[in-house]
Amino acid sequence: MSSSLQVPFVDLSRQFKSIEAELANEFFAVGRSGTYIMGDRLESFEKKIADYVGVNYALGVGNGSDALFLILKALEIGDGDEVITVPNSFIATAWTIIASGAKPVFVDVDESMNMDSRLIESAITSSTKAIMPVHLTGRPAMMNGINKIASAHKLFVIEDAAQAIGASYYGKRVGSLSTAAGFSLHPLKNLSVYGDGGLITTNNEDVFKKLRKLRNHGLVNRDECEIWGFNSRLDSMQAAFAEVKLKYLDGWNTRCRSIAKIYQKQLTKKIEVPLDMEWEECIYHNFVIRTDRRDELMGYLKNKGIDTRVHYPIPIHLQKAARTLGYKHGDFPHTEKYAKTMISLPIFPELRDEEVDYVVQSINCFFD
Ligand SMILES: *Cc1c(COP(=O)(O)O)cnc(C)c1O
Repeated sequence: MSSSLQVPFVDLSRQFKSIEAELANEFFAVGRSGTYIMGDRLESFEKKIADYVGVNYALGVGNGSDALFLILKALEIGDGDEVITVPNSFIATAWTIIASGAKPVFVDVDESMNMDSRLIESAITSSTKAIMPVHLTGRPAMMNGINKIASAHKLFVIEDAAQAIGASYYGKRVGSLSTAAGFSLHPLKNLSVYGDGGLITTNNEDVFKKLRKLRNHGLVNRDECEIWGFNSRLDSMQAAFAEVKLKYLDGWNTRCRSIAKIYQKQLTKKIEVPLDMEWEECIYHNFVIRTDRRDELMGYLKNKGIDTRVHYPIPIHLQKAARTLGYKHGDFPHTEKYAKTMISLPIFPELRDEEVDYVVQSINCFFD
């Protein structure tokens, strides 16, 4: 085992270098076109994304958080309303609900680390307007159960699909399984741009038409404003880059899935690894293992030159900002336990076989 190997948690420059000539062409094409906001390049990317996800409409917006926030606005969710979501997620899942004026109401996650649909019903009140499941780590949430409860109670469902572009559930892609879905094109996400970017997908024409105004100052054309809006659009240059990258997305996701398979097969049984169910295709935005010796193992791997992370060490309901929501330690036992036992291992398409092997051997060595 080579001890001089350094395994980064992620190295975005490897992917950039692999397609830099194509990206440079787009830089010149968009630059020479003279159109940098909205326009053909954005529209052509939006069409391709709608086809890819399997929905009627897609919209490019400023970032993944804005995608969720604008969906809430378009559905007229705000002051006095409640949105059910999970405390085991990136903080944006919750703050976008707060920013809309509504209150996030958390339910715990299950072994899959996604929303436990058995807990939803008891969290519903007369103020509940929507359920916002997260497809955490690129694994689809249990949408059938969630949608069934939502339709029985006449609630919207909003997918936080920021980590899951390309993942599928019973043969359908995430982003097509709800009223509307938000995706992030942040550099760390599986389809990414060179700055901030986000996407909304929906099959609902009214929601789409409203979102088209909301993201662009409430304007219906250059001069007429129909509703108070926001400024949140995906730049034409970023859309052109993303369109290039969309061609490679399935290949990149397949590579992440095969790295995940190696981890699942070869890592010691002394840790818990994520498992794939027959109805889903997880794209492994993150590969999260669990062990009671988490901090010790992270330190050991660090000494071996292997960089790991925790997604996320502080559950949302225990963040300082969340004090006003009135939650306390012990409210969500699974989320709180996972926060102390999770480690995300390196996983990205350009991670090399010898690096994957080195991670496996190092972890197995620690437990032996
Ligand atoms: C990244 C992410 C977001 C926010 O996306 P940005 O583009 O960074 O605003 C929201 N939810 C989850 C689960 C995310 O991982």
